[in-house]
Amino acid sequence: MSDILETIVARDPNEKEFHQAVQEVLETVQPVLDRNPEYRRSAVIERITEPERVILFRVPWVDDQGQVQVNRGFRIQMNSAIGPYKGGLRFHPSVNLSILKFLAFEQVFKNALTTLAMGGGKGGSDFDPKGKSDNEVMQFCQSFMSELCRHIGPDTDIPAGDIGVGAREIGYLFGMYKKLTNEFTGVLTGKSLGWGGSLIRPEATGYGCVYFASEMLATKNDNLEGKTCLVSGSGNVAQYTVEKIIELGGKVVTLSDSSGCIYDEEGIDKDKLSFVMRLKNLRRGRISEYIDKYSEAVYTEADSTLDYNPLWSYKADCAFPSATQNEINGKDAQNLVNNGVQLVAEGANMPSTPEAIDIYLDNKLLYAPGKAANAGGVAVSGLEMAQNSMRLNWPREEVDNRLKIIMKSIHQSCIDAATDYGQQGNYVAGANIAGFVKVVNAMLDQGLV
Ligand code: NDP
Repeated sequence: MSDILETIVARDPNEKEFHQAVQEVLETVQPVLDRNPEYRRSAVIERITEPERVILFRVPWVDDQGQVQVNRGFRIQMNSAIGPYKGGLRFHPSVNLSILKFLAFEQVFKNALTTLAMGGGKGGSDFDPKGKSDNEVMQFCQSFMSELCRHIGPDTDIPAGDIGVGAREIGYLFGMYKKLTNEFTGVLTGKSLGWGGSLIRPEATGYGCVYFASEMLATKNDNLEGKTCLVSGSGNVAQYTVEKIIELGGKVVTLSDSSGCIYDEEGIDKDKLSFVMRLKNLRRGRISEYIDKYSEAVYTEADSTLDYNPLWSYKADCAFPSATQNEINGKDAQNLVNNGVQLVAEGANMPSTPEAIDIYLDNKLLYAPGKAANAGGVAVSGLEMAQNSMRLNWPREEVDNRLKIIMKSIHQSCIDAATDYGQQGNYVAGANIAGFVKVVNAMLDQGLV
């Protein structure tokens, strides 16, 4: 297997995030390949690690000063074996081919786990919405969609939000798609409720992650009641993770953004969370402003010279990384273990480095990788697609119940696959194996395409 990884690295030596994601999957699916020699004969690894299509395009737009700006747009159509490409768009200055390929690759397995018919894709741009006016964001989104619209469609590729792409951006993107194609169709998910969105979609990733954590705790006859939790980020996933933890009786003591983190020993209650939601979603402010309002909390500025993140050094029972990739390194993971954390559920995609994951597994933590724990977002996107196709809207309870059932089923698939391959309790192996087998069997059924 190392020869395949070497080829992938040699072909695209600068794609370190993609290599990291591939390596993790290859290590865990080795026993599946050993048991199924036809997989090796059919070169499924070589095929599944190569995107079906990569689209890279120029995005020119005019800022409020009348200056022309040029960004780069991407869409990775990774795998369509079990359904149309599905995955979010990320607008962040760090976006590049490596990050989007890793996200698209993870998405393939995640979508397979949801039980819904969705292939994997991901896209975005190095455009930074932070500090831009609404008009600039709209100009950018319209230019971005004027190219992307040729490559997507409700039965081809259905993008959604991710970092930097929320309800505002989805609105501008959808409006431009509709104008260009003259079709009102479910081509994007995460739409607003009044024009095709689904109830519970904004909440789905955070709620789903907490449902998954509850399932893991239930295997130990435990639950979130009274548990102290660390949450990173303060965007969509973090906000609804906090909301659900509070509802289930847990106490959240941290939040962050790229500038720093806050620690509130008394706990972030419902009122404090409403403040954060207004601060982040309406005023687009910084998390540092939390301590202006709640002086009992402490703010620590991000410091890139440190080799650890202070957010992961507080005493707690559970950790919910919900910001970005590789936000927990080996030292952070050791800090979590030393401070009593027994469960890590990843709301973000690949927030833990390989060293961190080894530490979780060595210390027998309940550890849920993002592709299982944060699959609730794309699952409810799938339910949004179903409602769009039927021209119906399901009530909140119905979508929430379906989300719970899906998270329970993903949890069970991870347990079953891990047990089947002698790795009881290892959710990394379980998620990778269950997703891999489903996608690879579909690829083999469909021939060499
Ligand atoms: P948002 O843009 O709503 O929020 C992202 C949060 O993470 C912000 O607080 C942001 O801070 C912080 N952040 C982003 N980049 C960095 C960085 N490099 N260093 C430190 N902090 C950073 O995004 P989401 O909440 O939607 O996404 C968060 C994570 O969850 C991502 O990994 C995403 O891929 C994953 N995810 C999201 C899903 C969804 O449905 N939205 C579904 C599944 C996974 P700042 O404002 O300073 O940038």
